[in-house]
Parts: sequence; C-alpha cells; structure tokens
Amino acid sequence: MPEMQVRGERIPHHTEKLILPPCQVKCPINEQIQRTNVMISLLPDDESLAREKIIRICEELYESNPFFGVCGYICGLCEQECNYRDNGGSIRRRLLKKFLSDVYAAHVSDRQIPQVSRAGGRVAVIGGGPSGLTCASFLSKKGYAVTIFDAHPKLGGMLRYGIPEYRLPEEVLDREIGNVLAHGVEVRPGVRVGRDITLDDLKSRGFDVVYIAVGSQLGKPMGIENEDHPSVQSGVHFLQAVKKAGVPKLSGTVAVVGGGNTAVDAARTAIRCGADRVALLYRRTRAEMPADPEEVHDALEEGVQLLELSAPQRVVLDGSRLVGIECCSMTMGDPDAHGRRRPVRKEGSTFVFPCDLVVSAIGQECDLMLLANDSYGTIRISKRGTIEADPLTMETTAPGVFAGGDAVVGPMAAIDAIAAGKIAAESIDRYMKGEVLERPPRHLMSCDVPFRDHFRAAPEPKRTPIIRHLSFDVREIGFSLSEAITEARRCMQCGPCSICNACADIGLQAEPVSVRVDQTLCSGCGLCAAACNYHAISFRSVDVLRNDGTATCKQIACTDATLCKACGLCVASCPSHARDMTTGYSLSLLPQSGPPPVVSCYVCKFGWDYASAGAGLKALNHAVATPVTCIGQVSSDAILAAFSDGFSGVLLLGCPEGDCHFQDGSSEARKKIRVLRDIMAPFGIEPERLELVTGIDPLGERMQRIVDSFVMKLATLGKLSCKELRHER
Ligand code: SF4
Ligand code: SF4
Repeated sequence: MPEMQVRGERIPHHTEKLILPPCQVKCPINEQIQRTNVMISLLPDDESLAREKIIRICEELYESNPFFGVCGYICGLCEQECNYRDNGGSIRRRLLKKFLSDVYAAHVSDRQIPQVSRAGGRVAVIGGGPSGLTCASFLSKKGYAVTIFDAHPKLGGMLRYGIPEYRLPEEVLDREIGNVLAHGVEVRPGVRVGRDITLDDLKSRGFDVVYIAVGSQLGKPMGIENEDHPSVQSGVHFLQAVKKAGVPKLSGTVAVVGGGNTAVDAARTAIRCGADRVALLYRRTRAEMPADPEEVHDALEEGVQLLELSAPQRVVLDGSRLVGIECCSMTMGDPDAHGRRRPVRKEGSTFVFPCDLVVSAIGQECDLMLLANDSYGTIRISKRGTIEADPLTMETTAPGVFAGGDAVVGPMAAIDAIAAGKIAAESIDRYMKGEVLERPPRHLMSCDVPFRDHFRAAPEPKRTPIIRHLSFDVREIGFSLSEAITEARRCMQCGPCSICNACADIGLQAEPVSVRVDQTLCSGCGLCAAACNYHAISFRSVDVLRNDGTATCKQIACTDATLCKACGLCVASCPSHARDMTTGYSLSLLPQSGPPPVVSCYVCKFGWDYASAGAGLKALNHAVATPVTCIGQVSSDAILAAFSDGFSGVLLLGCPEGDCHFQDGSSEARKKIRVLRDIMAPFGIEPERLELVTGIDPLGERMQRIVDSFVMKLATLGKLSCKELRHER
C-alpha cells in the first residue's frame, strides 16, 4: 500500500490525517476542546452578558454529544493527555463542561425542537444506555423512526444504575435523556430482548435495522472458593440495588475487591450506607489503579482504606456466616506484553481480612441472552464473550445488525460508548441509503507542547467538607463564571487555527489569518523559527538564479499551515520583511469625532474589547486604534514608522504575561520595547513615548482612561522634537 511521511511517521496514503491538540486526540469523540476553551476564555465576566454566548457554545457541543452535560459530571478522560498536565496540572475540562451545561440547563425547556419527517426507515435499538441513546439521538434527527428496548424500568443503563447519585445526579441524567427523547424517539422500558421479545420478532414487526448496545452489566466472578455466598455481591449488582431499591442500612466491615471506577464507587457508596469500615483490596498498587485518580483521592479522603498488593484467594465462612476474605500479598513483577507490571504472589504471605460483606468489582461481562435466536444470520461472539463487530463501522456478522459499546469491547468509559453510538448511527444511515459503510481511516496526531515561559497551576478542587454521615449529594463545587474564564485562559490552545476557527466564529475577526512568505526575500536566517512558539517553521532548499545566470540553491523558512496559529511573531521578527499576514494592520480605526489623534494605539483583540462588538475601540478619542491578533505581532518597523508619521506616542495594549492567547506575545512585546527605547533615545524620541499596558478588558471600558492618561503624560514631554522623524500632526 502506498505510504506517505507525516512528521516522521509512515501512514497509508488514503488516510485522513489531522494534527490536533492531545486532549482532542484522547477524547473518543474528538470533542473540540481547544475551540470551546477559547470561546469560554473570551466570555464577558458578567452573567447576563455571558448567558447567550454560553447557550451558543452548548448548542454546538450538544450537537456532537447528547450527553455533554453528563460528561461534565463524570468524564475527564481528555485531562489525562493535556499538554499542561506536567506543567502545573491539566486544564480542568470536566469542570468547564459542568459549568457550561449547568448554565444551559435553565435554557433547555425554552428550546424549539425541529420537526423531522420519519421517512428514513425503522431502527430498533436494544439497550437504553449511553451508546443506544446516542445512536437513537443521531438517527432520529436524521429522520429515522427509532424505538429503544430496555430491560430496566428507566433508561440510562450504567449511567443510571452503575454511577452513584453523588457523582451523577438523576436530575442531570433525566434532563439529558429527555433531550434525546424530545426528538421523537419511542421507548419500550422493561422489555428484555431474548426473554420478552426476540430478534425475530423485531424483524417481523418491520424494523429494518437493529443496533445492539446492551452494555456489560453482569459482574465477573472472582473464581474463588465460597463466592456464591449471599454476602458476596458483584459491584454492579450492589450499585444497581442501591439505585433501584433505595439506600440499604449497612454496618460492620465491607471489603471491595478491585481497582476500577466500579470498585471505588461501591466503596464510597458503602460508606454512605453506614458501613463502619470499608476497604478496597487491589492486587496492584494505587499508581496502577484504572479508576479515575480524582475518585480514588476522594474515596481515601472519605475514609476508605486502600489495601494495595492484596489478591483475594477465598471467602472465609464461620458456619454459614461470612467472616472475612483470605488474601495473598503480592509484589510487582516484570512488565507484561503491554508494558504493565504483573503482580506476583509472595509465597507464605496469606492473611485474612475480617469483614461482613464482600463486593467483587474486578470486571464486567456482557449478557448475551438476546442472541438466543439468529434469524438475522449468525452473530459471531469473540473469545472474550463479546459481540464481534467491525470497529470502523460497528457492523456485526449478521446483515442489518450493528453492535457497539461495552457489548463489543468490554467495559469502557461512558464516552467510549457514546462514541460507538455515533459511529453506529452514521453507519446505519449509510446502510439504509445503500452506501458503502467503510470510510477512509483517520490518523490523528497530537501537537507538541508549545514553547512557553509561563505556566500557572491548576485550581484546587473544591468540595463540601466531610461531615460525619456522608450523604448522596454531590460534594464537588463547580466553577463560577469568572473561575471558568480564568481556567479556560490557562489553556495553551495547542492546536492549529485550521481545526479551531473559534476567533472567527465568535466575530473576533473575519477569518483566521495566515502567514505568507516571500521566497525571494527570505534569507533562511532562522530568526522566525526561533520566534515561533508552535514549531510551525521548517526549512527547505529552493533553486535560485544568480545575477550571472547560474543556478544555486538556498534555504528558506516555510510555515506549516497545519501547525501555524497566525500569531505573527515570526512576521515581527523577520529582518528581511519576507513574511507578512494575509490581513495586516489595515483595520486601523480613526476616531469618529473629537480632537486629532496623537497616539497610535495597537490593541490585542484577545484581551481588550472583545465582548462589546468593538464599541470601545470605535469610541476611542485621541488615538488611532489598530486591533491586532497579538501584541507581539507589532513590528519594530511599525512602531518607528508611527513616530515618523507624526504620532506623539505609541501605546500597546496587550494581555497579561501568562495570559497571552499565543503564549508569550506580551513578553515578546516587552522585550521589543526595551530594545526600541534604547534605539529611540539617540534620535531624540523620549523612551516614555512608547508604552505597553497589559490587562484584560472585555468590554473595552478602561481603554479611554488609559489613552487619556498616556496623552497627559505625552503633554508633559512637549512636542516630539526629533527632526529626522517629525511630521507634525
Ligand atoms: S492546554 Fe488546552 S489545547 Fe492543550 S492539551 Fe490542554 S486543554 Fe488541550
Ligand atoms: S504566525 Fe506564529 S505560529 Fe505561525 S509560523 Fe509565525 S510564529 Fe509560528
């Protein structure tokens, strides 16, 4: 198969390649994290002004994920791969999502649901968990008549019956499910396919396609002696019983076996049910626990004990009463084929952990009872006991039957199930239209950490204090509007403009700007590459003709459009004027009235006046305002030219250092000013005539005051006396 080289990697030619921020690559639905972080960072810090903008952001996010709000409570997968992770702590994306969706919640009832004709065909979805509901949501919006069959009395699957209320309130889940159903999805609750109805029946009732998304809702047995004792329960069963039958009254000691999220949820739930002591028994160490580290932290804070390197061997009975669990101490051995260190038994290290209840949460299995008949054709089962389905199309071995989520890959995060539901919906749509199901594979590559001087620490998580009897209320305290803006501003926006486009979509500029390079002027000196924070500049050889007609070759600096952020630092740094932007400084705003301007004022669009539709800039007196995408972009030439054009002073309004949308634009501007002031003095231009002010002023309310005080300072200096440059204004 023909291949191509992309950033040193060989990938097949027909592959769609994308360079994305690592958070977006990690997210199974490739959510546009950078884009929404930019949008949040540019919200006005005023709830009434921000509300409409938040609704707009949410509507876009709900388009790609009907459980966006649920994810705000339970999913921070992308945070594991944030470029900020080792530089102060990942961007708290989950809390940003929670903030957005909590604001949006108040708007849900006002929404208009578009009416869609149901001419697309009939689809049966088996399983009303995150995968089935997502598939139903996308297909119903496309005009299919979708019916969900679910064995439980209420929809939600593991989201409802496997995640405790203190992590995901029912009210949030009900709201999101309500949104899905509002698009015309029908529901048959309490119907178990394989028991109450068969796949055959679905076919004879006229369903064209079936999507199986039954999840993995059976606890995996530990395979140890006495585990069939009534005081041994699976984690999924324990959590489900609390949700269905209400909170039981526990006492004594509970031993929870496992290190995943279900184990941690069961342990924290047992504490809330009144257990005197709860211990997690895990055969590896805390560092290897697959559970969300935040959940593990909270569990320990709430009093759950962690017994690392402990593998259960036998449930210990005294007559018919469970009195403990016998474990063997482990040690960490060599890594296995996947690089994960294997726990190895320590000989003679058996101990009994005394307890009254054992909850086993070492894994889950798929209940394949629904495949009792095979009228659709043979649906193949994998060696792991899951349904075999094509990972790119979700098609099973039976025509017209698709499957996805935990039923295919085993227990995964909710967002993996949502991703499978999206892919299945797309494949079913193609199948119904008679189109080819396969799409070209995509190759996603992560952007590196941009060069950066300033890193700011992640905010400390805020929780309600632990009281003696923990309730099932959510303990986490989310972000306020200003905390959300501050956190979103921490994002380095690692990805290129080409995948983001946020600045254009919110009206900050007409379109993303790009850099042009004049090959004849470029000398290949490399100053631009040193200035670029995004590794976007590389060099290549080009043939050139000498004056005498002979050919030679020279190095020129090229810009990779898939990495460039169009900050303009390279343009400002190029001594040969070989670089410029597709939109330069042509947007200078002359004051509409008032005295003639004396100041040339460059204003960063990302820090100043972005939330007022330009009102602040347009009303500015005494200054010609030029909005720029980064204050670091203003070149030394442009500043000196302002003096030769007769301006009495040049004022740069930039973002605070560490808050620059392009990493270090303000620091670059400060360095430039220091050098320029030294250059200006011998020409008779006082250094005070050039000033940089940093800050964030969304509504542009402070700009006029800053200009006025600069003008007063210039007045004390008198007229510009530089003869060579003066051009009276
Ligand atoms: S800094 Fe922002 S864009 Fe970069 S990986 Fe983290 S969240 Fe994503
Ligand atoms: S505009 Fe900025 S990101 Fe793009 S090549 Fe120049 S310095 Fe790099």
